[in-house]
Amino acid sequence: MELSKVVKSILKDREFNPEGKTISHIKRKGKLLNMHVDDNLHILSHLGMSGSWRISKTKVTEKHTHVQFCGTDKNRNPLFLAYVDPRRFGYMYFLKEATAQVHLDKLGVDIASDEFTADYVYEILRRYPSRHLKVHLLDQSFFAGCGNYIASEICARAGIRPTRRSGKVTRKECDAIVRATGEVLNPIMESNGLTFSGGYSDTNGEIGDGVKHLVVFWQKECQMCGGVVKKIVLGQRGTFYCPSCQK
Ligand SMILES: [Zn+2]
Repeated sequence: MELSKVVKSILKDREFNPEGKTISHIKRKGKLLNMHVDDNLHILSHLGMSGSWRISKTKVTEKHTHVQFCGTDKNRNPLFLAYVDPRRFGYMYFLKEATAQVHLDKLGVDIASDEFTADYVYEILRRYPSRHLKVHLLDQSFFAGCGNYIASEICARAGIRPTRRSGKVTRKECDAIVRATGEVLNPIMESNGLTFSGGYSDTNGEIGDGVKHLVVFWQKECQMCGGVVKKIVLGQRGTFYCPSCQK
């Protein structure tokens, strides 16, 4: 995509002038989108709680559009890339290669990547044995992309209570954590993201229906056994688990 101008902005770097520059490709690490712009520049976009991008052939006029790149696609047709964020927790930087890399390096292994293995999980959990498992899973410097509901769901499907100390998780249970992570992420990705009242959505603004795959998060009954789900606060985050499925 070739850029001509930016409309409206919550960008941290106001000096960036995108005119004539091209976004060649976009990658993701954890919750960061990394747009590669020529001249070794990067746009790093963190979606926060409710941010999402729209790709459109016409200008996006949706409410809560904070940033909009206007430009053309490969065939010189108009293309608009708009960042929409009702709750405005997202943020965005324009950075040179080296600085962008510093931000990306702060993130640990992406939980959707092949590097997220049982051996890796076991090693990291052993490093901080007294941490609660779920709190540890939320640490982006080790488990990039693991958000609050994902961590609750991983614990549920792995059969481990979120309050279990990391040092008490066995190597075999780490296998279950990796398997559970796949089970949690696959339906979310296939159904274009998960939406909690105006939350996550895909790039066309369609609301994802990944919520129906949740087994404990925001559930009254455990979707695995039908028992009553318990809600607690752990590390200041709402946490859901099933006392009979999770030990
Ligand atoms: Zn259950």
